[in-house]
Amino acid sequence: MGVKLDLQDLACHNPECLAYLVVGMGNLVTGSRYGSDSTRARYTCVLCGKSFALTRGSMFYRLHTEREAVLRTLAQLPTQGSIRATARATGVHRDTIGNWIQRALAHREEATQQFGEMLHMPSEEIQVLWRFLEHFSPTEHDP
Ligand SMILES: [Zn+2]
Repeated sequence: MGVKLDLQDLACHNPECLAYLVVGMGNLVTGSRYGSDSTRARYTCVLCGKSFALTRGSMFYRLHTEREAVLRTLAQLPTQGSIRATARATGVHRDTIGNWIQRALAHREEATQQFGEMLHMPSEEIQVLWRFLEHFSPTEHDP
């Protein structure tokens, strides 16, 4: 096994499961890997029997919140105008939103694709979103 899975940091993502999004319950086992791509490891929840892809190297790696919720929260930022306002509107802690922004910036291509595919955002809207998110880029020092 070339992939070391840290199951302690993972959770079941089946909303009907007792262990939904609960970390460290010991309900997860490593499942089969498919293909030779080591980024596509899987793990299985023994309580509900569902298995999930480990999105290593993705903006969603080790993120316990549903992908769509992350995207929806980020998509609200330009409309809400600030992290604080978005935190108030969504109930997500502002540090968490800040973390998600950094993840999105680090995986910009993936995030762009997800905004389009999962939220069906038009590309102009995604561009507006990136212009907003870029304000939080730690590497942006241009005047
Ligand atoms: Zn489960």
